[in-house]
This record gives sequence, C-alpha cells and structure tokens, in this order.
Amino acid sequence: MAKTNAELMEKIVSLCKRRGFVFPGSEIYGGLANSWDYGPLGVELKNNIKNAWWKKFVQQRDDMVGIDAALIMNPKVWESSGHLSNFSDPLVECKKCHHRFREDQLEEKKCPDCGGELMFAKQFNLMLKTFLGPVDDESAIVYFRPETAQAMFVDFKNVLDTTRRKLPFGIGQIGKAFRNEITPGNFIFRTREFEQMEIEYFIQPPKKEEDWNSAFEMWRGEIKNWVTDALGINWERIHELEVPKDELAHYSKRTMDFEYHFPFGVSELYGLAYRTDFDLKNHYKNQGPYEDLDSGEKIYPHVIEPTWGVDRSVLAVLCEAYVEEEERVVLKLKPSLAPYKVAVFPLLKNKPELVARAQEIFSSLKKYFTVAFDDRGNIGKRYYSQDEIGTPFCVTIDFETLENDTVTIRDRDTMKQQRIKIEELKNYLNEHI
Ligand code: ATP
Repeated sequence: MAKTNAELMEKIVSLCKRRGFVFPGSEIYGGLANSWDYGPLGVELKNNIKNAWWKKFVQQRDDMVGIDAALIMNPKVWESSGHLSNFSDPLVECKKCHHRFREDQLEEKKCPDCGGELMFAKQFNLMLKTFLGPVDDESAIVYFRPETAQAMFVDFKNVLDTTRRKLPFGIGQIGKAFRNEITPGNFIFRTREFEQMEIEYFIQPPKKEEDWNSAFEMWRGEIKNWVTDALGINWERIHELEVPKDELAHYSKRTMDFEYHFPFGVSELYGLAYRTDFDLKNHYKNQGPYEDLDSGEKIYPHVIEPTWGVDRSVLAVLCEAYVEEEERVVLKLKPSLAPYKVAVFPLLKNKPELVARAQEIFSSLKKYFTVAFDDRGNIGKRYYSQDEIGTPFCVTIDFETLENDTVTIRDRDTMKQQRIKIEELKNYLNEHI
C-alpha cells in the first residue's frame, strides 16, 4: 500500500508505463525532458474522454458548433491577443546552481534545489517559436499556439457566415497547445506540449452584471456535471478557487479555477473565465463589429470561456480510479472511460475447443466494444491483470459453455460472477457501460 502521496504518485506513473498507458517520450534516446507518449491503453482512455466531451458539449447542445483549426496561425493573431507582450511567467535563477524556477510557484525566496540565493525575476515569454518555410530569419518566425481559444475568435466570422447562429452560442475545439513552461513536471500535469478542450461562448454585451453572470454560472454547473457524471470524480475532491482580482489575466473580469486534490497537491484542473469583449474587439478592429441578426445592432459579443486540459483530465481520472486492495490493484474507472470494456478468456489454454469458442465470442463482441483476449496463466491472474487496467467485465468460456451456450461474467468492482447466455452478452454490456 502506498504510504505517502509521493509513493502513490510513483505507483500510478509506474502502472502507466508497465501497462501501456503513458511512456516517457523518446525513451530509447534517453528521453526528452517532460515529454510523454500515450501508449495503447492511454490513447483509448484519452480518446474516450475527448469523445465524451465532444458529444456532451458540441453535438448534444443546440447552442454549440465545433471547429478544428490549424495550430500554427498568423503571428498577428498573437499580437492582437496580447500573448506576445503578456503571456509570460516570472523567471528566477539560482546564483549557485543556475537552476531556473517560476517565482510564483516558490514557497521560499531561495533555491529549492541547493538553497542558494536567487537572482531577480525577469518575465519569460512562454510562446514556443519556430520558422515557417526555408528562410530562418525574423520574417519567418511563427508560434505554436499556446491555447486553442484564439482560433475560435479568428474564425468567429466564418462560423457565423456559414451557420447563421444567433447569440448566445458557442464554438468548441479540441487540440494541442504548446507552452515553453519554465518548470514542467508532475508527470503529465504540466508539459510543454499538451491538449485542451475549450469553448468560447458568445453572449450579448451585458447591460448589467447578472447578464454575464448567468452564463458564467451555467458553465460552472456544466463543469461540475462533467467532472462528476462523465469522469466519475467525487466533487469533494474539487476545490473551486475564485481568482483574486489582482491576479486575473489581462483579458479577464472574473476567473474561477477548478482544482483537484492530486497526490502532489491541490492544483488547477480546469478554468472558467469571463473574457469580456477583449478578444473580438482586438481581432476585428479592422473589420468592425458584428451585426446582430435579431436587432441589427453593431456589437462585439462578450465571451465566457470554460477550458479543460485533456492530459490533466486523464491524470485526475487515473488518480481518482486507482485503488489498492489487499491482494489487487484496481482502476475503478467509469466503464464508459475504460480502455477495454470486456476481456474474454478460455478457461484453459490447452483445450482447443474452449479456445476456439472464446475466439468466436471475442470476434463477435469486437464489432461493438473494445475487447481484450487473454489465455495466459490462471484465471485469477488474468482477472487481476484486467482489474489493474480498469476493464469492467471479464467473460470466461468453460466446459459448461460448450454444453449450454452460457458463460460467466465477472464484475471488476464486486468481483462477483454470474452465468449468462452468450446471446445476452451484448445487451448486458450495453446496459452496464
Ligand atoms: P497553470 O496555472 O497551471 O499554469 P493556466 O491557468 O496557465 O495553468 P490556462 O491558460 O487556463 O492554464 O489553460 C487552460 C487549461 O489547460 C488548464 O486548466 C489546464 O487544464 C491545461 N493546461 C495549461 N497548461 C498546461 C500544461 N503546461 N500542461 C498540461 N495542461 C495544461
């Protein structure tokens, strides 16, 4: 059993590597600091999270549409958004060991590595630069987007022209973002390349505070629903932090951080911000305001922005699901998120008739679910192996199967088994996932 939070985190990281959820990036070349690759199980978990989000927030709502924009954009985007001048963190360097830190994350005013004195802070811009095309001079400099948000503003007019949407409505996007973080770390919590799921929700310019606050509260409630219903995270492990006025980003009038109790501390999982009309006003200053379809008035819509980190969602889900019991480790993932929904086992590997029947069932279930097949070792070990990766159900084909077309189905959480007819398997799984 993990005794400390550090030990718990180590166990989760090691399970991720051992079972193929997340590997260190470029490992055979000695790795690349803080880069991680999602393995065969990790990509399934991550895709299940992204698909659930897209379905819930883009496809199932009447007031939303989606886009998928290029991640390298015209550098003028970052000028208008304020990122080139403002998107920075305070950097300090130790005079002795020359290690660098983010000043606002330090608890004391000395080097956490060697105790040395720190040199004064300078602002370090987090934009990741590269050159586009064959010339590597100033004119070819471009930036990897540090957030997916700006594309929703830049494409706002195209979306309107093609969809004739009326306010309020939102644009959602899932995609990679890049930040040259000073101190990445804590596994996939803070990396330089990560993925976001973001919504820009456009509302009428508010006449009074309540007008934007009601949209803000609506999204606050949606974030709660997502955390509890879609991810299966206990709301008690979330801390809602009202960001103090003097710490708000340059565009924000109100920001709320949704923090999760990670083993390494309470840290930001998601955010919610009221961005006013800052973004559209800046991006559309040359084109002019948008003409409201209802009133014909020329306005710059205001924006409420809920934002979700994909990788932090994966990490929170893993931390929440990881349970050590006496003789097994279980990932109590919500069945809808589990990489495999069901595993199929022939009772004995050396009985061809059992193996053939198991393979038949495996192939037929594969049309509808992600299915694992395992015929190694004894049944008990196979159960534990599936428990550790969160597979909610295991189906065993035994001698009785050959006689009456029934199998045992075992539940991950209760470890109880029951016999059911093969023809009922599909419905049973659909009902329980
Ligand atoms: P932090 O304070 O942790 O640096 P932030 O407030 O700068 O985060 P936002 O700009 O609000 O983060 O980004 C929206 C979301 O994107 C965050 O809530 C988080 O889930 C995710 N995110 C931001 N930076 C990273 C990162 N470096 N690695 C992984 N996810 C990130």
